[in-house]
Amino acid sequence: MDDREILTWHTYGTAVRELAQSVADSGFAPDIVLGIARGGLIPAGSVAYALDCKNLFTMNVEFYTGVGTTRDEPTLLPPFLDLAELNDLSVLVVDDVADSGKTLELVARVCSEHAGEVRSAVIYEKPRTILAPDYAWRRTDKWINFPWSSEPVITSRTGVLDA
Ligand code: 5GP
Repeated sequence: MDDREILTWHTYGTAVRELAQSVADSGFAPDIVLGIARGGLIPAGSVAYALDCKNLFTMNVEFYTGVGTTRDEPTLLPPFLDLAELNDLSVLVVDDVADSGKTLELVARVCSEHAGEVRSAVIYEKPRTILAPDYAWRRTDKWINFPWSSEPVITSRTGVLDA
């Protein structure tokens, strides 16, 4: 049996459309889409376009150091968002996956201190997550290969290092 969930670029296109559809169907029209960097940036951009939301924010959180290995707790990294910008607005926090859910919980908690309403959307939800996202496209307990992070890093073919 496959021990990984593989998301291709092609299936990703369907996933984000269906995820955005479930947000729209619920009647939630966010003022702001906030992507958690880096994994949530690509889905956040896609969902923002799909929902015709022009306010796209980001927060940078670091937690995972490798496949299944983490720091003790997720940490917000600079540049820091001016949270006053969220005042009383509705925010859709988007990430690629809620695994432990600690990253999503941290961002949702920080935002909810300032925003009017905060909801969360992920492509994948894992069973152990401490925060059930409001919207999830699929559920899995496997390690997921996302199309943006499963190919080799591109380096120069010319052999020239720094120009
Ligand atoms: P969490 O805080 O929910 O444990 O996960 C935070 C972040 O870790 C996710 O947004 C994602 O970037 C990364 N991560 C967690 N689980 C997986 C996984 O199964 N595959 C990949 N590629 N990244 C993951």
